[in-house]
Amino acid sequence: MARTSVGILGATGMVGQTLVKMLENHPWFEVTELAASERSVGRKYEEAMDSRWNVSPYIPEYARNIRIKECRPDLDCDIVLSALDSSVAGSIEEDFARAGYGVSSNAKNHRMDADVPLLMPEINAGHVELIDTQRKARKWDGFIVTDPNCTTIHMCLALKPLIDRFGIDKVMVTSMQALSGAGYPGVPSMDIVDNVIPFIGDEEDKVEEEPLKIFGNASGGIIDRARIAISAQCNRVAVRQGHTECISVKLSTKASGEEVIEAFSKFRGIASPRLPSAAQHPVVYLEQENRPQPKLDLNIENGMASVVGRLRPCSILDYKFVVLGNNLVRGAAGAAILNAELLKATGYIEK
Ligand code: NAP
Repeated sequence: MARTSVGILGATGMVGQTLVKMLENHPWFEVTELAASERSVGRKYEEAMDSRWNVSPYIPEYARNIRIKECRPDLDCDIVLSALDSSVAGSIEEDFARAGYGVSSNAKNHRMDADVPLLMPEINAGHVELIDTQRKARKWDGFIVTDPNCTTIHMCLALKPLIDRFGIDKVMVTSMQALSGAGYPGVPSMDIVDNVIPFIGDEEDKVEEEPLKIFGNASGGIIDRARIAISAQCNRVAVRQGHTECISVKLSTKASGEEVIEAFSKFRGIASPRLPSAAQHPVVYLEQENRPQPKLDLNIENGMASVVGRLRPCSILDYKFVVLGNNLVRGAAGAAILNAELLKATGYIEK
């Protein structure tokens, strides 16, 4: 199969680097273009990254000599993956869609647009049909699909098996979010060492709102949002990578603890088509009483799973448990890649 050519917008940031890394030797995709801000334009990728490369020991060989371009829709590629800062992502992604490119975005700007799929292939692959509505309404040949916020993604993966088996009425979540979630260089070290910051701008709204769209039913190009009450508290902690979430749920029907763990463990998510980056087990349940931990469990299933542990009864709702998710992989770059794979498998990317 000929590989689809990919451009990365925001290739120099934390998520952009992770895309560059994850697309090395991808079976379906080949990176042909890297783009970023005027600070980086014109430089070879390895020069622009200098001391900023953060996600693995070495910059992949294929990317080192690619010259960084402006984020203008004249790139030589079939699809773009956007890891742009949200201050600029909205209009740049629209320019690409208008010019006929498919855009798989990490940015928040278009997530809640009624005609833009907020995709998680393990949960709502059918929402790709919104692309047809979007193209008709906006009169453009390209399209935009988005992945959710990183905390939202890992919470939704863990909730999905429970929604399928028992239904969920209420969710309370308290997150402890890693520094890399704030991009590079992110939170100043003087603000975060020895500290917890109990505020991340807009984060709680995203974690409460996005799941209702993700779990909604798509029909006739419209999403009927799920009815789940969600209350979120989000904190920044001095962990480099990996968001931890303490979640309590009120189920719609009664379930034993064994049945809840069985639902987590048996969840497979994507039955068909098989996507190359998808985890075999998108939700992994760990039995040890002190797990999951970012230091130990971040890269289970290559970072593409939500790792769950510590299931126990909750005296206010029904059950509580802990979820760990790799914010840069399944929470961002891996999410945009998985969505692009779904677009290829469903024919929205033709090459
Ligand atoms: P980041 O490290 O700050 O990187 C931002 C990228 O945007 C850089 O490549 C930067 O290029 C580029 N950029 C900034 N201003 C620009 C401009 N005026 N024109 C063109 N490019 C510009 O941020 P990040 O953490 O990678 O996040 C990228 C996106 O993913 C954001 O929208 C973020 O909200 C979202 N996201 C992040 C995570 C995470 O865990 N980090 C998770 C989910 C979603 P230069 O280097 O040239 O300035």
